[in-house]
Amino acid sequence: MPKWTQPVTEALQADGLRLEDLDTSGTPGFSGDKKSGQQLLAERATVLSGLQERLYANGRSGDHRSVLLVLQGMDTAGKGGIVRHVIGSVDPQGVDHAAFGVPTPEEQQHHYLWRIRNALPRAGQLGVFDRSHYEDVLVVRVHNLVPPSEWEPRYDEINAFERELVEQGTTLVKVAMFVSLDEQKRRLRERLERPDKYWKFNPSDIDERAYWPAYHEAYQAMLDRTSTDCAPWYVLPTDKKWFARLAVTELLIDALQKLKLEWPPADFDVAEQLRRLEKA
Ligand code: AMP
Ligand code: MG
Repeated sequence: MPKWTQPVTEALQADGLRLEDLDTSGTPGFSGDKKSGQQLLAERATVLSGLQERLYANGRSGDHRSVLLVLQGMDTAGKGGIVRHVIGSVDPQGVDHAAFGVPTPEEQQHHYLWRIRNALPRAGQLGVFDRSHYEDVLVVRVHNLVPPSEWEPRYDEINAFERELVEQGTTLVKVAMFVSLDEQKRRLRERLERPDKYWKFNPSDIDERAYWPAYHEAYQAMLDRTSTDCAPWYVLPTDKKWFARLAVTELLIDALQKLKLEWPPADFDVAEQLRRLEKA
């Protein structure tokens, strides 16, 4: 029976990892193949869904805690697939989803964390960020959208911001997703060959490929400088989509289990209400 040979939080940990050593087609910590991975995913999706329902139920009963999944990755890394296939297996009522693109004119008027603060998950919600505040030390750094003197202090600022979130009861699950340059080419080609995928394609995605080394440098700096004890990064190889989905499911299960969520107790006398119901 294929299984995890190591807890997913250890198998994907960013500490000390050099991106040039990452095998994007690997399945770190998991010994099974695609078929067994998909079988396990189906089982684990049910576990995730049950835990998320408890989070939601507790939120409705006054618990202020929440979980925030942060997905960072270059185009075609599979962020949308994680949202659809992993988050898609839980109750949509309990999900606060936000995707971050090029800042709008209104967003540009504000500090880069403004739009992030506005999109944070409410109590009891599973938040999902498709891209995030990290774009402000990734695309912004790679394309010199602001001078280094402006992006450089952001690493510390982001660490302080995330510490504050954690202290306020939000568990952060930060996942940095990586495909190989070859696999990205294959996925972009698919977007150009299939009318049902044209909508995902942006001609600038091809231009961005020339910046691959600069992006890797920026991603490495992000991992080195913002993987903290309270909000660690997990590095996810995503050439194999089934593995990416299984691994993120496990990361979320781990985060939710650590909250030790029970079903909220009744705030009424159950026996009395049953008696009333019988007479009604
Ligand atoms: P997509 O995720 O495919 O919809 O693309 C969103 C685009 O918005 C990507 O090219 C990002 O790099 C870009 N983007 C996101 N945040 C920022 C930002 N703060 N500054 C500039 N570009 C950004
Ligand atoms: Mg895109």
